[in-house]
Amino acid sequence: IFNTIELLPPDALFGIKQRYNADERKDKVDLGIGAYRDNQGKPWVLPSVKSAELAIHADPNYNHEYLNITGLNALTSGAANIIFGPDSDAIKNERIVSTQSISGTGALHIAAKFLSKFFPERKIYLSDPTWANHQAIFQAQGLVTNTYPYWDNETKSLDLNGFERSIEVAPEGSVFVLHACAHNPTGLDPTKEQWETILERIAYKGHLALFDSAYQGFASGDLNKDAYSIRLGVEKLKRVAPILVCQSFAKNVGMYGERVGCFHIVLPEQDTKEELTTVKKALSSQLSKIIRSEVSNPPAYGAKIVATILNSDELRAQWYKDMITMSSRIMEMRVTLRDRLNELGTPGTWDHIVEQTGMFSFTGLTSEMVARLEKEHSIYMVSSGRASIAGLNKLNVDRVAQSIDEVVRH
Ligand code: PMP
Repeated sequence: IFNTIELLPPDALFGIKQRYNADERKDKVDLGIGAYRDNQGKPWVLPSVKSAELAIHADPNYNHEYLNITGLNALTSGAANIIFGPDSDAIKNERIVSTQSISGTGALHIAAKFLSKFFPERKIYLSDPTWANHQAIFQAQGLVTNTYPYWDNETKSLDLNGFERSIEVAPEGSVFVLHACAHNPTGLDPTKEQWETILERIAYKGHLALFDSAYQGFASGDLNKDAYSIRLGVEKLKRVAPILVCQSFAKNVGMYGERVGCFHIVLPEQDTKEELTTVKKALSSQLSKIIRSEVSNPPAYGAKIVATILNSDELRAQWYKDMITMSSRIMEMRVTLRDRLNELGTPGTWDHIVEQTGMFSFTGLTSEMVARLEKEHSIYMVSSGRASIAGLNKLNVDRVAQSIDEVVRH
């Protein structure tokens, strides 16, 4: 009975990884998947993570018991503190319902399930372009997705007018998925002034803002700076509508495979304390029901590591240093690649590589150029021209620049 089931093509991104692994050329370079590498091209276990693991194992009460359905409280509260800020009015007034999730993808999945259950008619607006999985996650729950203009290919900058127009014409109460920082794949974030405009328009139209935060602290090395948009959103919408936040700890603690994340709902101010308590209890029970039938309770090990870091002054200080190590090495690679291309006189302009932020650069290379980089130069990146800058290092950046130069010219 299963013989008629259709074979699907490999996942675009993980397919690149498979081809890269199978490639026997010695000097191959992986600029595909967004995972940090050190200057030798190796995965990096953050010193703060190593110390947290030692502390966990040294605890005489260490065990592998189940967590609660909504996860480890020390993680969800610590995570809320870093994303909403130590002085957050929403935290002080207990307007947030939080639950642990299977990294950022799991948080988005909970959001999608929640929306499809209670607001199935609401349209989901995604940036054009966006992380490939966004569309899949929302559509899998039967939600209708639309796009809003974001990247202006001509000017390699934000199409704010197009974005605003979409907010204007979207049916009231639509859901706008916003990349909190380090937009994937373009590496282009709105400026502070542009965020003001975007969030004011969203509030005015009574839409729901769903922030996807996968790169907090990884983008700039500063947790506060990278949470700017979310904190502004919480402020602007506090009398209007709830905000949904999907928080990943894959990149900023470098624990991609441990799947640590959180999902938060920030409620708008309520008339009475009783009203707030009632709605929070209802939401928490509904989120628990969603999680219980899917994963029963979230994974514990990674959650304990992140919670240990978040709740220790000493480890948090080390973690801040670790994030600066990662973000500054990426910045250095952006500058080096731009400079090498300029020195080679590669046709085109390359300043956008330095101006973009986070893990990726939307290089502007065409899919034909990307295919030639892979075939002729064993350099792997996404066909849209998105390159993971974390895959560059002092040993390979010159060869990457020369190869780009070659495919752009010929
Ligand atoms: N959102 C965006 C925009 C991302 O780039 C990623 C990671 N590539 C995620 C969410 C989720 O990643 P994870 O599930 O590994 O936390």
